[in-house]
Amino acid sequence: MNLSNIRIGNGYDVHRLVEGRKLILGGVDVPHSMGLDGHSDADALAHALCDALLGALGAGDIGAYFPDTDPKWKGISSLLLLKEVMRMCREKGFELANADSVIVAQKPKLASHLPEMKNNIASALGIETDRINIKATTTEKLGFAGREEGIAAYAVALLIKNDRS
Ligand code: MG
Repeated sequence: MNLSNIRIGNGYDVHRLVEGRKLILGGVDVPHSMGLDGHSDADALAHALCDALLGALGAGDIGAYFPDTDPKWKGISSLLLLKEVMRMCREKGFELANADSVIVAQKPKLASHLPEMKNNIASALGIETDRINIKATTTEKLGFAGREEGIAAYAVALLIKNDRS
């Protein structure tokens, strides 16, 4: 077994909750009185997954590829960024074994939206939905997430090199 063929990465992202923005998480437009602020659609879950993949690839972070100073990425669906990062992984001969993630939000309740998020993420990555897991938690009203100032997301991803590449 060639251990350099197995690569793990983690990602973390936070966006501020503001009025007058849509709340997009995992590509789902979640009904809420506030949304996440950012240059793109501010999908913290998609961004954490991008960073987990880039981490596993040893290829830096999302800011290096999709800088928030570039008008090209303004308002863009972060599922497209995720798709592009997965393309980079495959270009280097890696396939995604599985990814796990956690969304940290006091409100709104996300449980009913998780299946649709999972479908969107799996579809952007071009893999089966059972290789993606998404969890949601509150922080018992503690910290910035608990005060509803922002939403955070954590992700880990395991890449395996395709032996034929
Ligand atoms: Mg972000």
